[in-house]
Amino acid sequence: ERRPLAAANWKMNHTSIEAAAFLEALDPGDSSCDIWIAPPATLLPGMKAIIERRNLPVTLCAQDVHEKENGAHTGEISAAMLKDAGAEAVLVGHSERREQGEGAERLQAKAEQAAAHGLRILYCIGESEAEYSAGLTKQVLARQLEAVRNIPANLLDIAYEPVWAIGTGRAAGKEDAQEIHAFIRLEVQRHFPDQSGAVRIVYGGSVKPENASGYADGADIDGALVGGASLHAESFQSIIHAFQ
Ligand code: 13P
Repeated sequence: ERRPLAAANWKMNHTSIEAAAFLEALDPGDSSCDIWIAPPATLLPGMKAIIERRNLPVTLCAQDVHEKENGAHTGEISAAMLKDAGAEAVLVGHSERREQGEGAERLQAKAEQAAAHGLRILYCIGESEAEYSAGLTKQVLARQLEAVRNIPANLLDIAYEPVWAIGTGRAAGKEDAQEIHAFIRLEVQRHFPDQSGAVRIVYGGSVKPENASGYADGADIDGALVGGASLHAESFQSIIHAFQ
């Protein structure tokens, strides 16, 4: 019942020429896997125009959203602006945002603001290296999940991204990832007893064409959130194909 999801997080990479070349080169394959791209916000309108013109099955996702409706927040971007620019979804809670001081309360407010505007939320959770070594992974994840308790399940997906696996080449083992995803699934079922089936749980952290199909085998792994290997169409599309 859950469609697989391959999501690209470009982080602070690419300009409009590179984004256009990426979309030009991308072979989306069959329609069995949802494809999201989270580019820098500056690229959203231009990419939206290309996606519509070429009728590409790609959903645009923002990388962050401000929790307020509008006002005196220099440099910030509101949920309404992201929608206006072509985004249908947004990442909330990425570890690189948490490192900038975004804590539970703020992330909850961001997720609720996004949902109020009908944006889908890809809520990122994951333990640090120190938490992993201390055996605190499940405790940390359960606590992080509290921030999205009030989000309608039909707008919510979860990305499990262990911080120690992001950009390090040290991807989580597929059995380990599956075990953690099964735990997250139970937590999601506890939060949303009637509608948990809609919530996808995708893995992120050094996903590459070479390891993607291992994750695709995991019963509770519904896709991937990809950083480095999503910057080039060829490698991102092999990851998409692994989930098709
Ligand atoms: P990498 O795929 O580069 O490890 O990044 C993962 C990530 O943070 C995606 O949001």
